[in-house]
Amino acid sequence: MPDFTATKSRFHLPRGVTYLDGNSLGPLPLAAKTRMAQVMQEEWGEMLITGWNKAGWMAQPGQMGDRIGRLIGAEPGHVMLGDTLSIKVYQALAAALALRPDRRVILSDTGNFPTDLYMAEGLIETLGKTHELRCVPPEEVEQAITEEVAVLLLTEVDYRTGRRHDMPRLTQKAHEVGALAIWDLAHSAGALPVDVSGGKADFAVGCTYKFLNGGPGAPAFIYVAPRQAEATAPALSGWLGHAAPFAFEQTYRAAPGVARMRVGTPPVLAMASLEAALDVWDGVEVAEVYARAQELSERFIKGIEATCPMLTLASPRDPDQRGSQVSFHFEHGYEAMQACIAHGVIGDFRAPDIMRFGITPLYLDEADIDRAIAVVSEVMTDDLWDDDAYRHRSAVT
Ligand SMILES: *Cc1c(COP(=O)(O)O)cnc(C)c1O
Repeated sequence: MPDFTATKSRFHLPRGVTYLDGNSLGPLPLAAKTRMAQVMQEEWGEMLITGWNKAGWMAQPGQMGDRIGRLIGAEPGHVMLGDTLSIKVYQALAAALALRPDRRVILSDTGNFPTDLYMAEGLIETLGKTHELRCVPPEEVEQAITEEVAVLLLTEVDYRTGRRHDMPRLTQKAHEVGALAIWDLAHSAGALPVDVSGGKADFAVGCTYKFLNGGPGAPAFIYVAPRQAEATAPALSGWLGHAAPFAFEQTYRAAPGVARMRVGTPPVLAMASLEAALDVWDGVEVAEVYARAQELSERFIKGIEATCPMLTLASPRDPDQRGSQVSFHFEHGYEAMQACIAHGVIGDFRAPDIMRFGITPLYLDEADIDRAIAVVSEVMTDDLWDDDAYRHRSAVT
């Protein structure tokens, strides 16, 4: 087991707050502050433009891609950092559709995160509206994988309920009918063991500001399976994905492998905090983090169900069917979550009625879980949420 007391001590956790929202935005790794200051002063400040070479900024998207690659079971040299997850979804989908030019169906599920579906819609428009985005309920995905399907576009762990798809099985099913599989690992990377190589994913994408704690707006990542890497068209053919960016050629030539998925200038400052966040993962196995998350989740569910009969579990009851979050349905979930936050327990709300709690063992222990149970119970049993102060909806819920 990793020393979770030691990993917890590497984060800034505000006094008086129990943070169960690391599935949406991980907390600040203490070393990120020093790393950021160092990049600002010693690199940007002193090196100016020479930092691209001297400080190695230009190579960082691939190097940090490999560090994330270890956490998702990718072969070295096949993960690239950059842009936002929405953009990486678009790139992966465009590349996959181009590899299946005779097929028209993109298969996803109705629980998928909206941006993945929106990006698919936009791409379909761009491609001349000849493709169809077919969304079926999550439990019906397997039967819906037919020979019409060009690409299976799924998020492994459902952002609302935490329900987990069987990635290897669905991927195999897709391959059996000649389709490709793209996996969105937004709620998987840093939460549970993923094996994109063994599971034969064709593409995988994810973000680094959730369970990886890279900071708000930290860059996304994309994995392209080695067997597809030389055949993919990157769709967004930016200069840094060119085979020779500094030759400034008139026309685009794709860089080898996943490097072609780079688009433009990498976000050096955002990568500075991500780099410090990834240091926390050194010597930590995701499987052990997941096992610990399952223990803490069971404790949380048991405590909440014992005291809050008005909340119904929205997550699968079987811990192996969940990611690292626990969700409950409650009709007044928005107000209830606002009240929990006001009382020092931060989770979040997802429409229409989901109260969502992220279980992140790198910086949460039994005492935190017990405190969260006590606060949520008090908010619920004393109806503390039933107050006008908690009804106002901010832009971000
Ligand atoms: C969080 C999340 C996103 C966010 O996309 P951004 O472009 O980083 O804002 C996309 N897809 C899924 C499945 C997510 O959970």
